[in-house]
Amino acid sequence: MSMKPNVVVIGGGFAGAAAASALAEAGVSVTLLEKRPVLGGRASSLRDGVTKEDVDNGPHLFMGCYRETRRFLRRVKVADRLRFPKRLEVPFLWPGGASTFCAFNWPFSVGLFAGLLRFNAMSGRDRYSLLKGLFHARFPRRKDLAFLTVSQWLDSLRQTPGSRRAFWTPLCFATLNASPDVACAAALEVVLRQGFFAGKKNRALGHSTLSLGKLWPVDLPGYLKSRGGLVASEQTVTGLPVRDGLVSRVELEGGNGGEADTVVCALPLPAFLEICPAEIRPSYAALDGVRFSPILSVHFWFDRPVFRGLFAGVLDSEIQWVFNREALWEGRGASAGGLSLVVSDAVEFLHSSSEDIVSRVLADLRKVIPDVPAPRHASVVWERQATPTPTPAFWNSRPGTSTPIKNLFLAGDWVDTGLPPTIESACRSGHLAAAAAKKYLEERSLRREPSPC
Ligand SMILES: Cc1cc2nc3c(=O)[nH]c(=O)nc-3n(C[C@H](O)[C@H](O)[C@H](O)COP(=O)(O)OP(=O)(O)OC[C@H]3O[C@@H](n4cnc5c(N)ncnc54)[C@H](O)[C@@H]3O)c2cc1C
Repeated sequence: MSMKPNVVVIGGGFAGAAAASALAEAGVSVTLLEKRPVLGGRASSLRDGVTKEDVDNGPHLFMGCYRETRRFLRRVKVADRLRFPKRLEVPFLWPGGASTFCAFNWPFSVGLFAGLLRFNAMSGRDRYSLLKGLFHARFPRRKDLAFLTVSQWLDSLRQTPGSRRAFWTPLCFATLNASPDVACAAALEVVLRQGFFAGKKNRALGHSTLSLGKLWPVDLPGYLKSRGGLVASEQTVTGLPVRDGLVSRVELEGGNGGEADTVVCALPLPAFLEICPAEIRPSYAALDGVRFSPILSVHFWFDRPVFRGLFAGVLDSEIQWVFNREALWEGRGASAGGLSLVVSDAVEFLHSSSEDIVSRVLADLRKVIPDVPAPRHASVVWERQATPTPTPAFWNSRPGTSTPIKNLFLAGDWVDTGLPPTIESACRSGHLAAAAAKKYLEERSLRREPSPC
């Protein structure tokens, strides 16, 4: 491959796509290199071999406060493919019961608190405890949340087991993909402050109306091409040689490679550590111990619809969420009876066979929806390194976008954006990296410094 672009972006997930599109929008010529044949990374789709229907690697939800994500999607003109209901409404099911948590659209957080009063998944005492806890979380006095786990924070807020069961624990697994015993309190505080407490628009819970593989991955190549850039898929980057203190080349598997003026590395953390130039590797030594949380998704095809809503949380169960693919995708690409079950931080299932997983989650599903028939087909999709586990140690060791090498910038959900590792963190890091790369190119051209290649 021969190339001489201004900026090479490595990695075609949300972070790389946000960076590449922002640079292209600013008039920079971009080459996006992606290892796989398709874009999307950890938010992508795959074709089921039996039904030939698309399923996501795992159903994804988007919060109204995902500003950088919407900015990216607007840029590539696909923002209307996300759907945000007018108010936050999350049904919960548990064996023998159901209740919907619904936040009214009243000013400040009043609607949120009023909604909780009507949420029957917990006793009056638990609701009182939760309201008090939320009030204190709204104006946190503690300055050490970055060093506490969520459980330690909840202990100090004197939260009852009932409020943890029906609110805090599901919220922690859903937004941080980690148990309250290990997740960093500061990460959950951000979710509360920027989402739940920030008004009706920010706390809305949205979803893609198409499979993730059709949300933006098919549109991005055209967007970049129309601005002089390109997407090169099935290109695995294996090294970033440094000459005179700058990255001079991008090496590809198979011995090929190309010159690079500036590089935005938007890889998952383990992939970045593999190709990180030896000259700066010690700067990232603290990241060697970062752990990852798995997410398990089990996709079912039933002969008839078994659940009418869009999605629901599940309490007192091994499964945490039920998603109705047909309703989410508004009938496009999913047959009636398409249901996906999700288990965050699914360590309990790691050593189980697919058959065992299917029968365990089906048994749990029948406890909350009793008349579920035998499925026509089921498929188990693992993401074993779905997200970095946002422990206090991780939260305090995330690097920024700039690196000690002036023409190398980092993006990815693990980079320090002040947000938990999510799509929004990925997009924000991509936009930050693009801005930093553009500034570097501008300053270099003002100083009339030569390109490293
Ligand atoms: C099942 C699941 C459910 C989730 N649910 C949600 C949710 O509901 N809401 C939410 O906000 N977030 C959710 N997340 C998290 C979210 O998907 C990720 O935070 C986000 O997609 C990460 O994007 P990224 O661009 O940083 O990394 P990635 O998506 O991992 O992109 C990195 C890209 O780099 C490529 N690559 C790797 N090595 C190389 C190489 N050597 N050369 C070239 N390319 C390479 C990869 O193939 C990949 O395409 C979920 C994650 C999973 C797995």
